[in-house]
Amino acid sequence: MRTSPAIFAPHDPVALPDGRDGAAMHGLMADLYPICRSITGDGVRETLRGISRHLPLTVTEVPSGLPVFDWTVPLEWNIRDAYIKNRAGERVVDFRKSNLHVVSYSTPIRCRIGLAELKKHLHWDEANPDWIPYRTAYYRQTWGFCLSYNQMLALTDDEYEVCIKSTLRPGHLTYGELFLKGRSDDEVLISCHVCHPSLANDNLSGIAVATALAQHLDRLDLRYSYRFLFIPGTIGSITWIALNQDRLSRIKHGFVLTCVGDGGPPTYKESRRGDAEIDRAWKFVLGATGDGATRPFSPYGYDERQFCSPGINLPVGCFMRTPHGEFPQYHTSADDLDFVDPRALEDSLTRAIDVIDVLENNAYYLNQKSCCEPKLGKYDLYNGIGGGSAGAYQMALLWLLNMSDGHNSLLDIAARAGLDWGTIKRAAEALCKAELLVPARLPVA
Ligand code: ZN
Repeated sequence: MRTSPAIFAPHDPVALPDGRDGAAMHGLMADLYPICRSITGDGVRETLRGISRHLPLTVTEVPSGLPVFDWTVPLEWNIRDAYIKNRAGERVVDFRKSNLHVVSYSTPIRCRIGLAELKKHLHWDEANPDWIPYRTAYYRQTWGFCLSYNQMLALTDDEYEVCIKSTLRPGHLTYGELFLKGRSDDEVLISCHVCHPSLANDNLSGIAVATALAQHLDRLDLRYSYRFLFIPGTIGSITWIALNQDRLSRIKHGFVLTCVGDGGPPTYKESRRGDAEIDRAWKFVLGATGDGATRPFSPYGYDERQFCSPGINLPVGCFMRTPHGEFPQYHTSADDLDFVDPRALEDSLTRAIDVIDVLENNAYYLNQKSCCEPKLGKYDLYNGIGGGSAGAYQMALLWLLNMSDGHNSLLDIAARAGLDWGTIKRAAEALCKAELLVPARLPVA
């Protein structure tokens, strides 16, 4: 195993023009879109190199054959070219036009083949006749092509030449990691997958939002430390967890970012625990605008499956917009750059920042005058009104004084009172300044 800087030249970070700029995030996606990624290989390295222009990633190379729980790090797959040629020698299916044309992890082949036999290796989607589907064969020794239904119909020769110039050899699985040190060693884990070829919403949108989020957090004085993972789906997170078991207890909150660029409403899938602070923070943030949806945990989806496996059971949920499989473009060539809306990327980033603001500021307090209400006029409490309505601010003061018995966090109180986060934060600050509230060490038993 080896880590960067062996892989990349010394880092010279280039900030995205504005951390919340959807066009900048979309631009990063456009840079990475052409790369043929898979769960291993040079496509992942090139992708991490692209992200490294914006973030000082540490890159780890894990050798093929390493046992990781019930799995084994696979052989490394790379591809240079692939095509199907007709009798006239024309490329009728061409990897150079779309890397989706080759089933990921296809074994190398070069032969002439009859149409009937060829069709056993072809994948198409009749329901969307112009789209190329995305297929993988990671753990099967086989080869195949994906093509549009209309391309398939146009195959009328009785024989074709097929060629896949791929290699499947002992090598490495590659992942990138960024650690932002906060005041505490307790960590927030944010993970996204980097293993899909030219697919935009599923894969690149998560990368873009995670990159912008990391840049944003890097400028802040943070309570928690933040660990960003840019990893191949499933085997990447399994490998990372296997290699970092001694660190897992530091992870106090986390979420996976995926499919965060489509026009659908923001959606949060709960962690296996269901009532972890991260679950409540996301539900609170999405509930505040009323346009978000929450889904219960299920053992299917993205890398939350591994982080939430029973022996690991970390408080890690998944933030997305339209869930995988619920938009027709999912895992097809129609999940392209045009399918991703820069405004949706911005909105997704804003929601993630809001959730992190809740985590960063959530705390337990003790009311120092808990026997009947304090006489509020005696204290200088109204300088913190700021934006928001005075009525809401006053209610926040009353709720905080009433509920701050060491058992209820700011998030609990804000959720119960239906108050927005900014108002509750300002009111808590004012009450602390007036010495009516003091921090409680922990939730009081
Ligand atoms: Zn996918």
